[in-house]
Amino acid sequence: MIYIHIPFCKQKCSYCNFHFSTSLQSKDEVLSAIKKELFLRKDELHNTTLQSLYFGGGTPSILSGDEINSIVDEVLKYYSFEKDVEITLEANPDDLDKTFLRDLSKSPVNRLSIGTQSFFDDDLRLMNRAHNASQAEDSIKRAQDFGFENLSIDLIYGSPTSNLEIWKENLNKTIALDVPHISSYALTVEPKTALNDWILKGKVATPKEEEQNREFYYLSDFLKDNGFDHYEVSNFAKPGFYSRHNSSYWKYKEYLGLGPSAHSYNGADVRSWNVANNQLYVKKLNSNSLAKETEILSQEDQFNEMIMIGLRTIWGVDLDKLKNKFSPEIVEKFDQEIKEKIADGILVIENNHLKIPEKHWFMADGIASDLFLI
Ligand code: SF4
Repeated sequence: MIYIHIPFCKQKCSYCNFHFSTSLQSKDEVLSAIKKELFLRKDELHNTTLQSLYFGGGTPSILSGDEINSIVDEVLKYYSFEKDVEITLEANPDDLDKTFLRDLSKSPVNRLSIGTQSFFDDDLRLMNRAHNASQAEDSIKRAQDFGFENLSIDLIYGSPTSNLEIWKENLNKTIALDVPHISSYALTVEPKTALNDWILKGKVATPKEEEQNREFYYLSDFLKDNGFDHYEVSNFAKPGFYSRHNSSYWKYKEYLGLGPSAHSYNGADVRSWNVANNQLYVKKLNSNSLAKETEILSQEDQFNEMIMIGLRTIWGVDLDKLKNKFSPEIVEKFDQEIKEKIADGILVIENNHLKIPEKHWFMADGIASDLFLI
């Protein structure tokens, strides 16, 4: 699978620490550099038939239909697509007008991941999103009118502008809109963001963990009652609508990440990441070199990653795989570590897979990190 990072946004959301630029000046250069990188790295993936192509960002919907098509065409020079390939484009509600959707509906893109975040203006203003509540709703309906059934929306809970009642309303609207996939995250305060600054200056209240906890479990129960599977801590899907792309990350498959700041993984022990700077990225690619750094993952890194990723999913950690992959010393230590947590009901083993029962998923990252080797 291939991930392509489009590092541009219209404006900076208050909570975001992803890599992007709000100046579109270098857009053409970056797109050419991405195509160059694709050419230079075309032999990296073992499987040249792709089951997933994912445009993430930043804001990929800032591109025109022609620009998106030209990247897909470039990918098709070196790879073929599986018959039921998933081609996802992350899109912001304010970009999903009729012209863009018409163009996109004629392209191979067959899944949209919409950055809705909330259907309430107070939340959207605090987040400094470029769209308002009516655009949030209209964009989904419009995408469906143009034939996009495979839709995911992002929703953020636990904002200081929200509460459980508002959150329930957000979820009622989501169900009424008949969206088959939802990714939902707690509002987190990252360093060097406007939100962090406002909180430090006392302009905005700190998000409350108990409130986020309540909203998370309401979300989980409510969506399950409405026919969704809770298949990863932050992801919910109707049967048949699991994200193939993200599911492949969670199953440790190899992927190639192109564009500034994109990460790649060879499915075993090599990870690399591109420089998170558009100018440097373009400069490197213009001189026919790659803009990436590479790391060989130690046994400890691979172990920790397997635990962290696996324990966040309904599939859990495959204990046979773990025992075959790691040394007897590591496995013995791990067996000791999990005993107490199993006795406390924080971990369970089902069909030789270690899992966190869903009622403890809000704490999944903490539970996993307790099992880390270092
Ligand atoms: S649109 Fe997405 S990537 Fe861009 S600033 Fe907002 S949250 Fe960050």
